[in-house]
Amino acid sequence: MFRSVLQLRSGPGLLIRGLGTHRGGSTLDWDEKVSEIKKKIRSILPGEACTPLYDTSHLPPEHSDVVIVGGGVLGLSVAFWLKKLQKKGDGIRVLVVERDHTYSKASTVLSVGGIRQQFSLPENVHLSLFSVDFLRNINEYLAVVDSPPVDLQFNPSGYLLLASEKGASTLENRVKMQRQEGAKVCLMSPEQLQNKFPWMNTKGVALASYGMEGEGWFDPWSLLQGLRRKVQSMGVLFCQGEVTRFITSSNRMVTSSGEEVVLKRIYEVHVKMNNSLEYQPVECAIVINAAGAWSGQIAELAGIGKGPPGTLQGTKLPVEPRKRYVYVWHCPQGPGLEMPFVADTNGVYFRREGLGNNYLGGCSPTEEEEPDSTNLDVDHNFFQDRVWPHLAERVPAFQSLKPFSLRREVPGGQYLLSLEALRWATLAQL
Ligand SMILES: Cc1cc2nc3c(=O)[nH]c(=O)nc-3n(C[C@H](O)[C@H](O)[C@H](O)COP(=O)(O)OP(=O)(O)OC[C@H]3O[C@@H](n4cnc5c(N)ncnc54)[C@H](O)[C@@H]3O)c2cc1C
Repeated sequence: MFRSVLQLRSGPGLLIRGLGTHRGGSTLDWDEKVSEIKKKIRSILPGEACTPLYDTSHLPPEHSDVVIVGGGVLGLSVAFWLKKLQKKGDGIRVLVVERDHTYSKASTVLSVGGIRQQFSLPENVHLSLFSVDFLRNINEYLAVVDSPPVDLQFNPSGYLLLASEKGASTLENRVKMQRQEGAKVCLMSPEQLQNKFPWMNTKGVALASYGMEGEGWFDPWSLLQGLRRKVQSMGVLFCQGEVTRFITSSNRMVTSSGEEVVLKRIYEVHVKMNNSLEYQPVECAIVINAAGAWSGQIAELAGIGKGPPGTLQGTKLPVEPRKRYVYVWHCPQGPGLEMPFVADTNGVYFRREGLGNNYLGGCSPTEEEEPDSTNLDVDHNFFQDRVWPHLAERVPAFQSLKPFSLRREVPGGQYLLSLEALRWATLAQL
């Protein structure tokens, strides 16, 4: 108790108000005073004088009610809601285990950071309506005393989904459903499109839908950091390590139809510490699988998919890592601020990135051409063959990108597709 009071009072708030203030020639050194008081309190706390043989602060606790595997946006969001919805005095102990604190391959930080309301299932529209409200009021949810507010760098902008003659009626039906669920979406004819977005070639477009509210994009890293800071302030523990094993207990049960089933329950999680062959066991009641693209592997560790074929236990979790591409390019004569997030009829998507004439986009490979997910190098040929031709057709200003970028010529320096800025985007979930 004493400790937390002291930490609060010696935080940045006090430093800003009092430190180094000159009054009538004498300097009030608050730092020194605070550290003296801290020393005195420490000296009377039981056990404070004892120095432990090893520093164990990096190890996970021996027990935790809930262990969350994966510290991406989903894992942290589960941690946040568990703590927020817990009843007073419950004090659920929550541990997040994340193997890579740089998040170098996590979908969260490599994503395009967009939020839309235009989905084909009502459940997704509901989730997204809630999410946009959460983002809008982010500091009511994630504010932490004495810390700066979370800035998501939110860019409000509608998604523009284009449909060909073939896809027009599906698009129309979806928009009807989205409106019924409360999303603000409108339909646009090719003529209306041409008037609103004169930089666009509307060839092959029969109908479009455009989000009028609750859509745009933001910085996913800021959201992740905001969530992390908040859940830490709520008492969630973090551990850097990899979950490698679950220890289970079994119970036999007979169902009402007389079938005997074996129920397994995880009671211990093994966490392999980074740069070490050792693992630490954590006893727990509940495990949450929030391992993103690697969730299938975690499910397999728990025995899911390993039972007899045709049974629930024999059904694998259909999630696996896949490589996806996102490219960034620069085009001073592009549409600029006028460009929303456009999803074309053929799956190619693009949007503005920042305010400096940069753009971002890509498309997914087909099932047949799924690339090797272990090689995450940028695939320049994919951009040249599969992305650029569609970009250039839909937005004529993007035509100039190809010759200058892929041959690395920059005549007159007019257009430069910054190859250095091309970034691979990552492993994705199904
Ligand atoms: C290219 C791309 C663009 C996207 N664009 C959008 C978009 O515009 N809008 C949108 O809403 N969504 C988008 N998504 C999807 C979105 O990024 C993901 O749905 C979301 O980030 C998933 O979060 P997550 O926490 O489940 O996974 P992740 O962020 O991948 O986190 C999982 C974490 O689990 C950790 N982990 C895995 N195994 C273990 C283990 N055994 N032990 C410990 N830790 C482990 C990993 O290190 C990782 O950090 C996009 C995805 C991709 C790939």
